[in-house]
Amino acid sequence: METFPAIITPFDESQVQAAVICSKKSGIQIRIRSRGHDYEGLSYVSRAPFIIIDLFNLRSIDVDIKNESAWVKSGATLGELYYNIAQKSKVYAFPAGTCPTVGAGGHISGGGVGTIFRKYGLASDNVIDARIVDLNGRILDRKSMGEELFWAIRGGGSSFGVILAWKLRLVPVPPTVTVCDVTKTKEQGATKFLLKWQNIADKLPEDLFLHSVVGSSDNTITVEFGSLFLGRVDKAVQVIQENFPELSLESSHCSEMSWIQSVLDSADCWLLDPRILGDFAEAPAIQLLLQSKIRLGD
Ligand SMILES: Cc1cc2nc3c(=O)[nH]c(=O)nc-3n(C[C@H](O)[C@H](O)[C@H](O)COP(=O)(O)OP(=O)(O)OC[C@H]3O[C@@H](n4cnc5c(N)ncnc54)[C@H](O)[C@@H]3O)c2cc1C
Repeated sequence: METFPAIITPFDESQVQAAVICSKKSGIQIRIRSRGHDYEGLSYVSRAPFIIIDLFNLRSIDVDIKNESAWVKSGATLGELYYNIAQKSKVYAFPAGTCPTVGAGGHISGGGVGTIFRKYGLASDNVIDARIVDLNGRILDRKSMGEELFWAIRGGGSSFGVILAWKLRLVPVPPTVTVCDVTKTKEQGATKFLLKWQNIADKLPEDLFLHSVVGSSDNTITVEFGSLFLGRVDKAVQVIQENFPELSLESSHCSEMSWIQSVLDSADCWLLDPRILGDFAEAPAIQLLLQSKIRLGD
């Protein structure tokens, strides 16, 4: 593997253009990093000489509730996006992933699956415009890049240019959503439940997202069934009981909350204040959480 001679951290778009033009002239490859969550390290590893353009400084978010849209720069995290939407309205959301520290740049260019995707599709399905720097250092928007390139950047990965920002379509959510959670052990027939879930999960009403996580606890195998329902608890329980009666789900397995609180719940930070999403890395609460995790790992 090559080491990189430079990490460029642009503060404005012209610096991204300069980095692209210079690296092209010098015959050096570019790796683009928004928030560095790539599972294979594609944003910071290469076999050829390369530089990293790291976009973490380009992270502003402009939410326009009246027009049901938002511009988000690539270096913003999903948590920052969700928080900024919730600051403006409790009844709008964006359908993207559950991990608040993932970057908008990498996530949306690869698709983006989250808890409301059954109703609203992938994050990339909800992009209505974008600004990119192309191979020649030009800044293009949807109109100037044309529909073919605009199609490619929404799910086709990272090789079409540097995404500077996305314009997103916001989607409506009710003021109260319901999250439910039931865990079954191997002794309770977890395998049977998993089989049933596989057969019904994609046929449920689109307001209901029901996922399963296989794990282990107390020397046994567990399957956790977690759900998000776009509505109140009584309806959530009714829909799950109708479609998956074997689960024996009751309202005591569920909690009503706002959509932004459900974001924290999905990220296993349910006790925390949504304000931590606004600046995830800096917030005192998340620092405490990280420190406690580090201590646990010692
Ligand atoms: C803990 C964790 C939880 C996750 N949860 C979910 C989830 O709930 N749903 C889901 O769908 N996915 C999830 N993912 C996957 C995640 O969406 C992808 O790995 C995503 O590509 C990460 O984006 P990033 O900007 O943080 O990563 P980066 O490593 O910065 O980038 C990922 C890829 O996109 C390219 N790229 C980044 N920014 C740009 C840009 N501005 N222009 C062009 N190309 C760019 C990079 O070169 C690289 O190839 C998760 C990943 C992790 C590690």
